[in-house]
Amino acid sequence: MPEVAPMLIVCAEEARVEVELVGGLLACSSCRGTLGPWGHARVRVVRCAAGDRSLRPRRARCRGCAGTHVLLPDLVLLRRRDEVAVIGVAIEAKVRGEGHRPIADRLGVPRDTVRGWLRRFGADSEAIRAYFTRWAFALDAEIGAVLPAGSVFADALEAVAVAVRAWVLRFGAGPVWRVAGLLSGGVLLCNTSCPFPPVR
Ligand SMILES: [Zn+2]
Repeated sequence: MPEVAPMLIVCAEEARVEVELVGGLLACSSCRGTLGPWGHARVRVVRCAAGDRSLRPRRARCRGCAGTHVLLPDLVLLRRRDEVAVIGVAIEAKVRGEGHRPIADRLGVPRDTVRGWLRRFGADSEAIRAYFTRWAFALDAEIGAVLPAGSVFADALEAVAVAVRAWVLRFGAGPVWRVAGLLSGGVLLCNTSCPFPPVR
């Protein structure tokens, strides 16, 4: 059996993904070969700011290496139930000094869930800062130094912001946290057994 390759992040618009997949426009993250349709992954419910949304991610198979991929919509992160934009709001609020309880109450998300996000982001801060700084430089070699923001946690958020800005300047406007999730290969806030994919 071919190895199951890491997630591939795609647009959350199912119709667009279908067109790209059937049209052979999506590339394998392992060998850059062309991906073709290969059924669906299980249905998952994503808690979005606008209410619950049911998603059935597409699966794809590479015509080159025969590896299979789940096409994770850019709306979500691997192993997280909530929309990445909602998680991002919590991270930004924490950097502004807010605690997990008021953040959770404002977002209508269980307090333990928000505490889990913030703890994971805090625990991975150094790796997140280093990874997104590499992305920022890969996207814009002329970029200045990422300035210290006052704490390891805030520095990590600053590096995310700088990398996303560099991406937007190069590829056009996009929702900040979706771009951040995309750059992380969907594993932002995943556990340490899911390393970030290489920066291209
Ligand atoms: Zn492949």
